[in-house]
This record gives sequence, structure tokens and C-alpha cells, in this order.
Amino acid sequence: MKPFDFQRAGTVSDALAQFAPGSAYLAGGTNLVDHLRAGIREVDGLVDISRLDLTEIAELPGGGLRVGALVKNSDMAAHPLLRERYPALAEAILAGASGQIRNMATTGGNLLQRTRCVYFYDPATPCNKREPGSGCSAIGGFGKYNALFGASEHCVTVHPSDMCVALALLDAVVVAESEAGGRRIPFADFHRLPGDTPHLDTNLRPGELITAVELPAVPVAAQSTYRKARERTSYAFALVSVAAALRTEGENVAEVRLACGGVAHRPWRAHRAEAYLTGKPATAEHFRAAIEAELEEAQSGTENAFKVPLLRNMVVSVLEELRDGRTPQRRAEQGGAA
Ligand SMILES: Cc1cc2nc3c(=O)[nH]c(=O)nc-3n(C[C@H](O)[C@H](O)[C@H](O)COP(=O)(O)OP(=O)(O)OC[C@H]3O[C@@H](n4cnc5c(N)ncnc54)[C@H](O)[C@@H]3O)c2cc1C
Repeated sequence: MKPFDFQRAGTVSDALAQFAPGSAYLAGGTNLVDHLRAGIREVDGLVDISRLDLTEIAELPGGGLRVGALVKNSDMAAHPLLRERYPALAEAILAGASGQIRNMATTGGNLLQRTRCVYFYDPATPCNKREPGSGCSAIGGFGKYNALFGASEHCVTVHPSDMCVALALLDAVVVAESEAGGRRIPFADFHRLPGDTPHLDTNLRPGELITAVELPAVPVAAQSTYRKARERTSYAFALVSVAAALRTEGENVAEVRLACGGVAHRPWRAHRAEAYLTGKPATAEHFRAAIEAELEEAQSGTENAFKVPLLRNMVVSVLEELRDGRTPQRRAEQGGAA
């Protein structure tokens, strides 16, 4: 490993001042340290932000929550107001990694975790994300995990985070600070599609520090859930995942939100499906037609073709579960297993 400077910041302004070109912020270290060890990334300096006072979850006027960037994933998933108002978010976090990793991993770090593409992790192979201009080994290579939506000729990988799929559902806002001042980035503008710059995962600028994620008041999110299909029941990234929120009036869909994971370079908000479904009868037939409308944009190869029926069936099943009040949260409230 290349030697690097190490500094520990006591305040946000210290951290911003200590950051130099070639530096990285170190939060829980569960992703960054792996990359340093594996030779996927080199840094000149690490600015340890783990002691910053950004560990609070606070109520916002109007019913939202502000989650500090250093809140541990475990603490976020366990917070009573977050579980009540945004069950899909709590379920998504608990579907990720392991208890030990969630005890270290932070909100800010989760947003910035990098792809799990096997070629990104293998420095012996070309990867435009790891080494711009070197090529994409996943195109024509091992394609099982590749994207369905929004891929480019330069990168076909998917975003690995569970939490971010739920944040996309909620239209969260990322709050960032830099020496030039603070800014608020709508979640839809935070992660990028690969285009011809797949090495850039997000629109965060070099040196910007995430200080919080704000969850707006989203009443429909009280009836939301997250489901993840994976190759093992724990400690595995999503093949496909679905976060959904649904409100019906009578027989019809009054409000619906749908976001998908494991299918694109960023969490994929299924706007076409939402638009199709709003106002329609809340039946399996219409749920299926809604995701078909979204899938019109999908492109798959031989090895990842399985993701199409998997996504279709998961969306129908999750929306039926919400319609019928059979989500993990509702079952727990009724005294069953969560
Ligand atoms: C074995 C294993 C299994 C996993 N399984 C899953 C899974 O199933 N689902 C899932 O979603 N995730 C999974 N993860 C990923 C895990 O969620 C991330 O590693 C974690 O969220 C990263 O958070 P961190 O605080 O440790 O970030 P770090 O590793 O400290 O940092 C990650 C990146 O974010 C930057 N950064 C961190 N905080 C800030 C900040 N406040 N402002 C600016 N930049 C910042 C760092 O510079 C670095 O580039 C898994 C990880 C492991 C090791």
C-alpha cells in the first residue's frame, strides 16, 4: 500500500481545511479501507472524520428527519421515528451487509460506496471506473450482475447500496459543505449514470463533505416496504431490490412510489411505472402493466436476462403486500414476526 498522511478532524471546518487534492475522508472505513488494501485506490492523505459531531437524528419542522452523516447504519435503522415514518428505509438498511458492518458504516459512507463489479475489484483487468479509458471487462465478460437501465458503452455496472434505493423513494436531500459554502443536492441529482465518465459515481465535488441527509415528510412512506433478492440470505448485495410506497382510495391507487436497486448505475426511480399506476385499480394486472411500462427501457444480455422477470414479479408481489397490509412492519404491529 502506498504510504499516506493521516489527520484526524475535530470539526467540520478542520476537515475541510485538512482535505488536499489526493485526499479522502475516512468515515467507518468499511469500503475505503478495503479499496486501499486491494490496490484499487491510492490516496495521498486520509482525513479521519469519524469523530465529527454529525451523529444526531433530529426532527425537521413539518415532519421530516435530518440524519447526520456519521450516524451509523445500525442506529439509523433502529431509530423509532425513522421506523414509523419510513419503514422501507429501515428495512433497506437492515437488508444490507452484516450487523458488525452496519455498526461501523455511516450514512455518508453508504451514499459513496463504490460498485461491487468483479472487474472493478480485480486490478489485473480493464475497468473504466477504476482506471478511466482502460475499457469495460464486463461488456462481453461475466454479465450476471449487469445493469438493465441506463448503462453505457463504457460501463454496465450497478449501484450496490440498499439504503440508497429507499432514499431515492423518499426524494431525500444530501447536505454538503465545502470551503466555498454549503449546498443541498436533491437525491435524484446525486448519483450519476455512467455515460462516458463512469469513474464519477456522484455529483459531489472533490473535497465536499456530506454533513447530513434530510428526509422530507412523505406521508405515503408510512406504508412502504423494501424487498431484496440476493444469492444468500445475508451478507450479499442485491441481484434486484424494490422499495415501494402505496396509498389506495377505494379500489384505486391514489399515490405510489417505486424505486429499484441492482438494475442501474444509480438507484432507479421507476417514474414511468408510477405514472402508469396512479389512479388505476390496485390489481396485480395493473401492477404488472406498470412495471412493464418501466421495462420498455430495459436492455439485458443473456446472463442478466433473469433480472427482468425477477424485477417484474418482485414489484407485483411488493405492491400486493402493501395493498393488503401484509408488510413486515404491519405484521410486527399486529404481533407477528417482523
Ligand atoms: C462484506 C460487506 C458486505 C456489504 N454488504 C452490503 C449490502 O448488502 N448492502 C449495502 O448497501 N452495502 C453493503 N456493504 C457496504 C457498506 O454499506 C459500506 O461499506 C458502508 O456503508 C460505507 O460506509 P463507511 O462509513 O464505512 O464509508 P467509508 O469506507 O469510510 O467511505 C466510503 C467512501 O465515502 C467517502 N466518505 C465517507 N463519508 C463521507 C462524508 N461524510 N463526506 C464525504 N465523503 C465521505 C470516503 O472518502 C470513501 O470514498 C457491505 C460492505 C462489506 C464490507
